[in-house]
Amino acid sequence: MIFSVGQPIGRHASSCGYCSPSGERSKTDSSHTAASLVALQLSSEVYQMMLNRGWRRSGRFCYKPHLRSSCCPLYTIKLDVLCFKSSKHHKKLQKGKDNAKFNLRASIHASEFHSDQNQHFAHKFEMTLEPSSYTDEKYELFKKYQTEIHFDSTSPKGFRNFLVATPESPEQQEPIQYSSPPTSDLPTHYGSYHWCYRLDGKLIAISVIDILPECVSSVYFMYDKDYEAYSLGKLSALKENVLAQELYAAGAPSLKYLYLGYYVHSCQKMRYKGEYQPSFLCDPETFEWYPFADCTALLAEYRYACFSRPERSLRGEPDHELEQDFKESHPQEPEQDTLERVFVISEVDGPQISVIPANLYSDRNSPFHNRELFCCIEELGVDLASKIFFQL
Ligand SMILES: [Zn+2]
Repeated sequence: MIFSVGQPIGRHASSCGYCSPSGERSKTDSSHTAASLVALQLSSEVYQMMLNRGWRRSGRFCYKPHLRSSCCPLYTIKLDVLCFKSSKHHKKLQKGKDNAKFNLRASIHASEFHSDQNQHFAHKFEMTLEPSSYTDEKYELFKKYQTEIHFDSTSPKGFRNFLVATPESPEQQEPIQYSSPPTSDLPTHYGSYHWCYRLDGKLIAISVIDILPECVSSVYFMYDKDYEAYSLGKLSALKENVLAQELYAAGAPSLKYLYLGYYVHSCQKMRYKGEYQPSFLCDPETFEWYPFADCTALLAEYRYACFSRPERSLRGEPDHELEQDFKESHPQEPEQDTLERVFVISEVDGPQISVIPANLYSDRNSPFHNRELFCCIEELGVDLASKIFFQL
């Protein structure tokens, strides 16, 4: 059994990256408030449960945005890969552009069927799935992507922290529960992977994905701008979809979804995620899944849409006074029986850790630590919080 250990960071605000000057919402004071924790180690089960409650990760940093107070609410979206049907648009995409210098579909086909037929193609396209790791080659691609697409700088350390550090324990890998031995090209363990796209041996794109008990989860995608014409980002979603189907077909019975990160209705550029169907959005209050088609009317009408209780949906810009009230009144102190179920690390002795219920923790009166912990309990819910040992 793998223990999950997290260091609560509490709630913090960050500026919104989705409001564009030409976007539908104003950029003034736009921010996201999120509860967060640093995952020192997470079991695949706990990490999956966190995703199912609207959490995401960036390296080991896990966060859960507060949707009611956000200018651009972030709804977790998942695609049912077993029922997925490529639209005409997507099929066309997979065939590659007519004016493409190489035939993408044929090249992908060649990469999937390792045979001498490769020699019939002028170019060789390959995809390799490997556990996430740092290489200079990957870093060079990331640097080019950051510079040319995001006009941002980076460093090898930034790359490691963001795309190599993982919440899964590298020492205690959890095997994927296949019903029968999988083919050699499928991964054997849950965890974080880099899916590398190479054209004639040159690394042109990387999908960063997590493979978990219920899903393949898209974490990040980067590509070489010189190959922009091939819509590699959209192609990656289709490939990840196929991977999830293959994992399921190989006997991983619960692995039926591709998680596409957050769906941001207020950001035109992010709406493409809704084109993959059938998909589901996670309700921001009950964390139940709602068919995307049933959510669109509320999303169009409200800034904040609550699918489980539409009367709780909100129009207009976030109310800063209400937001302030929320920040001051939350987290609320959990009930005694909640604290009895949540464990805090009291002592570390080599590989051995001792834990005590949160209500007995000696720093209980430290408002700082309590606040950080209570935020996490509030956003995780007690059932999930009780599966994580908190390092204060
Ligand atoms: Zn925004």
